[in-house]
Amino acid sequence: MPHAVVSDIHGNLQALERVLADIDRRHVDAIACLGDFVGYGADPNPVMDLLVPRIEVAVVGNHDLAACGRVPLDYFNPDAAASAIWTQRELTPGHRAYLEALPMTASWRGLWLVHASPVTPEAWHYVLSTGEAADEMRAYAEDVCVIGHSHVAGNFERDGRSVRYFRDPEVPRRSGHKLLINAPSVGQPRDGDPRAGYLLIEDDQITHVRLDYDIAEAARRIEAAGLPRALGARLQWGE
Ligand code: ZN
Repeated sequence: MPHAVVSDIHGNLQALERVLADIDRRHVDAIACLGDFVGYGADPNPVMDLLVPRIEVAVVGNHDLAACGRVPLDYFNPDAAASAIWTQRELTPGHRAYLEALPMTASWRGLWLVHASPVTPEAWHYVLSTGEAADEMRAYAEDVCVIGHSHVAGNFERDGRSVRYFRDPEVPRRSGHKLLINAPSVGQPRDGDPRAGYLLIEDDQITHVRLDYDIAEAARRIEAAGLPRALGARLQWGE
């Protein structure tokens, strides 16, 4: 049976509902979450009510810790900081306690899971180049590591000593080839494709699944909540 990895939901209930419906349709047997459950979107509590009971394991994201007041907001841009402060007020004590207890990394069904960087998970680095990916690949023993954080879906693959980057949605799992896969974001894609995304994990292949969802409703809810309007507008561009 396949399993699934979701990442960077960011309080977007409309996107999460669409992703979970597709996961159910495919009879996925287990789900992992790479963090950033909340922040930016208008529905942090409904997202956690829906997702937390469904997942087998999760790691924490920087926006989850920001929503718990556990990371400084000075490196956040003004819209991100405003949404973090709004989310701090909204989040129920139970959801906050859940997020604060999440680990930085996890080994799950043959995959290494971390929100940002395998080498220094707590530094929230972005893995953007093949040189950086080569260093990151030394930090885990598993054949495949899955990360989120950049919201730019893509794949680094090491064959022998060379690392290449490719954006193909279908990634074969070949023995001897180490993979570092950046999962698509469920709730705030930034790779020019505004569709909600997740990873379908099968024995021989990993697939970036992308799905249309009700972006206008997610943006309307952001505006109605009094959050910065730009956070809704960016959803339709996928940036
Ligand atoms: Zn994120």
